[in-house]
Parts: sequence; C-alpha cells; structure tokens
Amino acid sequence: MPAAAYDFIVIGAGSAGCAVAAGLAARQAGSVLVLEAGPSDRWPLVRMPFGLVWMLGGRRDWRYRSAPMAGIGGRSIAIPRGRMLGGSGSINSMVWFRGRAEDFDGWAVPGWSFADVEPAFAEVEAAIRPAPLAGAHPLTVGLSGLFGANAPTHPTPERESAGVFRFNMRNGRRWSAADAFLRPALAAGVQVLQNCEVARIGLKRDRAREVVLADGVVLTARKGIVLSAGSIGSPALLLASGIGPAEDLKAAGRDVAIPADGVGANLHDHPGAGLHFAGPGSGYGLNAGQAGQWLAAPLRYALMRSGVLASPTVEGGAFFNARGEDGPPDVQSHFIPFLLNWEGGRYRYGAGYFADICLCRPKSRGRLRLTKQGLEIDLGLFADPSDLDIMVAGLQRLRSLLAEAEFGARRAPEIFPGPAIASDEAIAAHIRARAGTAYHPVGTLAMGGPVTERLALRGVDGLWVADASVMPAVTSANTNAPAMMIGHRAGAMIAEDAA
Ligand SMILES: Cc1cc2nc3c(=O)[nH]c(=O)nc-3n(C[C@H](O)[C@H](O)[C@H](O)COP(=O)(O)OP(=O)(O)OC[C@H]3O[C@@H](n4cnc5c(N)ncnc54)[C@H](O)[C@@H]3O)c2cc1C
Repeated sequence: MPAAAYDFIVIGAGSAGCAVAAGLAARQAGSVLVLEAGPSDRWPLVRMPFGLVWMLGGRRDWRYRSAPMAGIGGRSIAIPRGRMLGGSGSINSMVWFRGRAEDFDGWAVPGWSFADVEPAFAEVEAAIRPAPLAGAHPLTVGLSGLFGANAPTHPTPERESAGVFRFNMRNGRRWSAADAFLRPALAAGVQVLQNCEVARIGLKRDRAREVVLADGVVLTARKGIVLSAGSIGSPALLLASGIGPAEDLKAAGRDVAIPADGVGANLHDHPGAGLHFAGPGSGYGLNAGQAGQWLAAPLRYALMRSGVLASPTVEGGAFFNARGEDGPPDVQSHFIPFLLNWEGGRYRYGAGYFADICLCRPKSRGRLRLTKQGLEIDLGLFADPSDLDIMVAGLQRLRSLLAEAEFGARRAPEIFPGPAIASDEAIAAHIRARAGTAYHPVGTLAMGGPVTERLALRGVDGLWVADASVMPAVTSANTNAPAMMIGHRAGAMIAEDAA
C-alpha cells in the first residue's frame, strides 16, 4: 500500500512521464510517485524488437478504436497505445527522429523554438544513444542511394533522403524511456506503482489536490500533479474529472468542475497508406525457403541478438517532396522488409516488402470528446482535402522511387493495390479505403490552447501536462523523441515553477 501523500504524482510512466520523474528527482523537487495503469515492461516481447508484432492488440495495448471517419469512407481504425512501463515507447518500432527544426519554430510558442529545445534533445540522446539499425535487411540498405551521392548519409526530415533509420535500441534490445530515465530515477528515490489505473483528478476549489485510483484509493499531491497519460489518456482523464468543454460534459451527463474549451480539440495524426510487394527470394516472410531461418531465429536472437527477431519491422525509409518539387519533404515513407498481410490477419504465405507514405504535416484536425456512450476519438483523417492530394502524389512518387532502388534480385512486383490502380482517382480511392495512421496522435492539450508554455493547465493550479498531447502541431517525423524531449524539459520547468 503506498503512502497517502507525495509532493508530486506523475500519471503515466510513458515516454514523457519517465523523463518527467527523472527530471523532478534530479532537482530534488520532493517525493515523487509515478502511477502506471499497465504492468511491467520486463517481458521478452518488449525487449525483442520484432516482439511488437505480437503485442499489438494484446494486454499491453489500450486497444482504442477511432470513431467512424467520413474522410476514410466511414471506417473506424485501431489506435494502439502502450499500456505498461515505458508506455507507447515500449510497444513502438523505436524509430528515432527529432523532427524538423522548423517544426518547433512553427509552433510559435515562447520558449519552444528549435534553439530552445535543441539542448534538451541532446541531453535525451545522451541517455538514449540512438543508432542506425545494425544488420538491416539488404532491401532496406538498397534505399540509401535513392537521392544521389549528395544526399545525407542518414535519412532526415530536413531534406530529401533515404536509407536505414536510427533506433533507440542497445545491443539488439529495446532501450526505452523506462530504461534510460525511470530506472535510474527509482534508484534516486522515485516510487512507481504499476497496474494502477487513475480514474480521475480531485480538485479542491481550483487546485488539483488528489488522484483517485480506479479502485477508489485516494492519494494526495502536496506540490502538484503531472498528467503524462498520452494524447488520448491525458485529455480523457481531464474529461473524467469534469475539466473540459462545458457543453460536451453536460451533454454526456457529467458535472462541470472547470470549463476548459480546447481540452480534446486539435487531435491529429500522420495518416499513412502503403504498397505491398511479393515474390520469392525477396524480403522476409513465411515460406518454405525461409523456414530454417525462422526456426533458428529464437536461438540466434538469444545468443547473438541478431537475425529476423532483432528487426523492429520498420527498418528505414525516406523523406521526400510528394510532387518532386523543391522545398522540404512533405511525406515520410516507412520501409518494412517483410511481407505483410493486406487481407487482415497476421500471417501470409510468401516473401516480400512494404512501404508506406505518411503526411509530414497534416492540415486535418479531429477531436476527442466524452459522450454518453464513452470516449469518442475522431482523428479527422482527410477532413482537409489537400491532405489526400499530397498522399496521392506521394504514393505515385513512392512507386517511381522504389523502381529506382537498388534491390537487385530481391525486387518483387507490387501485389497490392497493384499496378492497375494507377490513376490519381484510383489511388485516392485506395487510400480512403485503406489508410490508417503512423500511430502518432498529438495535440489534444496543446500549448497555446488549454496548456501554457510552462505546461500548466490553464484555470487549475498545481496541474501540469507533459506528453505528446501538448504539441500544437505534429512534428514532421515519428513522435517518440519529441515526447521524451517534452518530458525532459517538463521535469525542470515543474520543479522550478512548483517551488
Ligand atoms: C505501435 C506504435 C508504434 C510506434 N512507432 C514509433 C516509432 O517507431 N518511433 C516513434 O518515434 N514513435 C512511434 N510511435 C509513437 C510514440 O511511441 C509515441 O508518440 C510516444 O510514445 C508518446 O509518448 P507519451 O509519453 O505522450 O505517451 P505514452 O508513451 O503512450 O505514455 C502514456 C502512459 O500513460 C499510461 N496511462 C494512460 N492512462 C492512464 C491512467 N488513467 N492511469 C495510469 N496510467 C495511464 C499509459 O499506460 C502509458 O504508459 C509509435 C506508437 C505506437 C503505438
């Protein structure tokens, strides 16, 4: 049983929350308790990069689903989110990108320009040590020459570039924020409770004072509460506490504790859709020729931390301008040297590879709100038609780029949607029918909106938000590194501001 009172209570031990806890501990800001709804990350599938394939949809995933979205033909899609120590950073592909310098300048939030955040990225990277994937599949390596000899050696969203990505792995194993930040903080006195879901935040007048657990236990935070439950979990907890748009709360039959328009608004993600290629002697897959490799894979991984199980599935990709125009890339491609099943189900006989297109800066916005039926998560995909136009151009250009890649004898024909889907209209229909996201939801408690540039929730004392939800606009690449950067800076800011 935990003590009943702490100076700080951090809700969520995810990518950002782990860094927040470490930052508070490093500044000796007071006693710190971290509450995590999920279990430990000490589980073989978390450590082993390929393990994420089996974790998606399992008990370490929150398994959210979106509302049906008009922009994708009324479909509802899966929104996986990690539910364990390390959060989504324990279930993700570990691709490491800061984003573009201009992403942060574009936020136009005082104190968050790239010059402001760059030192924090450098500090996070000193603890994480991201590195290019060792032992990438030859197909992934074959992307490297796509933009000529003058292209950067490693892909970057700053310029057209392609090749093997960098990952937060060490010696073939996942190295998450729980490893880099939380475990050292535990040694410094931070406490963590896992399997401990928070139901709501309790207010005393306009001050956040208490955390109410799902089992009814009440804990007191003397100096402050930090909400690091992620872009879905953090606004959901505020709404459950009666903090949010008054009309929505009333319509959902909830009491309004603090009216706060903007809670849950501005939800967006990187939409993505892809191409599948299949043929014998191509990428990884389940077929007779690779049976020996798969049978030997567990032993090879256990002894040498290499082989197919050391692949985080996404191994590399590219950044480019969808229409081939000058200027910074507007799309990112993730390359997976595995045959994926496009007909549902996890497995498919054969061998091949997959590449997608994700929009770097979607204009579309959705929102998250509480209704009588529960949480409604509308990602708003393609609500702005220009997003779909860029995706169509991007998929067309991806085809020509892949045709130029140095795949040699491993090149395989496109099998889905297939070359017959060639006109812009047909590709647009394919994208609407198939698009999902890169699993990068952000923006639901944006700085400049309900949250200040010091990460405090407006209108409530003693309550801060530190996770991907505070990004006013998604960065141009994967969001784990920015989430950790936000957590890292939050620890310092909150220690200072709470004092
Ligand atoms: C399948 C997948 C693949 C991805 N791949 C990549 C990638 O390769 N590279 C990349 O950069 N990004 C990737 N991402 C995105 C990246 O992992 C996230 O942007 C990042 O982890 C978000 O960090 P966060 O701190 O905002 O939230 P999270 O890391 O999700 O942390 C939130 C934590 O809060 C906990 N929590 C939530 N509600 C409660 C509650 N009520 N009580 C207690 N605890 C609670 C959750 O269990 C979780 O541990 C991927 C995400 C997913 C899901």
